[in-house]
Amino acid sequence: MYPPRFRYEAPRSLREAITLLQEGGGEAKILAGGQSLIPMLKLRFASPGMLVDINNLPGLDHLTRDGDGTIRIGALCRHEHIERSELITEHQPTIAAAAPLVADPIVRTRGTFVGSVCHADPQGDWAACMIALDGAIVAEGPGGRRSIAARDFVTGPFQNVLASDEIAVEAVIPPPQGEARGGYLKLERRIGDFATAAVAVAVDLRGDQVTRAGIALVGVGGTTIDARDAADALVGSPLSSDAIERAAELAAEAAQPRSDHRGSASYKRHIVRTFTSRILTQIDRSTQKAA
Ligand SMILES: Cc1cc2nc3c(=O)[nH]c(=O)nc-3n(C[C@H](O)[C@H](O)[C@H](O)COP(=O)(O)OP(=O)(O)OC[C@H]3O[C@@H](n4cnc5c(N)ncnc54)[C@H](O)[C@@H]3O)c2cc1C
Repeated sequence: MYPPRFRYEAPRSLREAITLLQEGGGEAKILAGGQSLIPMLKLRFASPGMLVDINNLPGLDHLTRDGDGTIRIGALCRHEHIERSELITEHQPTIAAAAPLVADPIVRTRGTFVGSVCHADPQGDWAACMIALDGAIVAEGPGGRRSIAARDFVTGPFQNVLASDEIAVEAVIPPPQGEARGGYLKLERRIGDFATAAVAVAVDLRGDQVTRAGIALVGVGGTTIDARDAADALVGSPLSSDAIERAAELAAEAAQPRSDHRGSASYKRHIVRTFTSRILTQIDRSTQKAA
């Protein structure tokens, strides 16, 4: 199917883009990698009056690490760039584990990390990583910049807190409180598919003590689920098999899966428990090996 007619604009500055979004008054949509928006237009799930293509905006394709360890991912940083980044391999294990599992190589060359978080698909991989890592989205609008915690960013399936004239300019991952450890496991029916269920885990360790933890779940609820109780149960003590099993149980309890063509609710809950336990056990084993 062809998309409905729309006005197309390709501004050259952030200011111009924001002005166009204001002009669009809620009828304009931002186009980044187009890997979610274009299919939605073609299926006529969306029919915006204007597309504001941000691909010509300068200074938004960065992937950097500040002196204090903060990682910044610009709005035009593609999945592929993240997948191939030594900075990510070296410093951010949760993101490194998820990167090769997002969609397929063709989608990864165009799709953006920030666009994926903005799209707020309950089965999107990056929003879960951002929540597990206590990340934030920085948005710019007519009133200036603001930072929104990832866990407050998504308000429902395919919905976020951004005003219609705001652009998400970067994703920010705060520095770890100690050594950053983590992982991402995803069950997919075939390579390149969205998750039947997936789990993102981020754990900061000082010595053998967990100083901070985040666990987020994909595909087992109407939005990405922040399994806060499961993560909190890990903080302040070493990773032990008891602590791991308790966190896995709490993560499974936090899931709100529904039975569908991808699997039954009880199967998906079982996957959440198994993946949480598996990632934490891998972290524990590699920590013991290194000690
Ligand atoms: C075949 C296929 C398989 C896929 N599989 C997966 C998968 O397994 N896991 C997964 O996570 N994703 C998957 N995706 C989605 C893909 O990762 C998209 O790239 C991503 O969801 C959106 O990024 P984008 O840059 O393409 O955004 P676009 O499609 O350009 O935009 C998506 C939405 O976000 C908004 N938006 C984009 N950028 C901004 C911004 N900077 N500020 C404010 N709003 C913005 C747009 O207005 C639009 O509403 C798949 C897509 C396809 C086509």
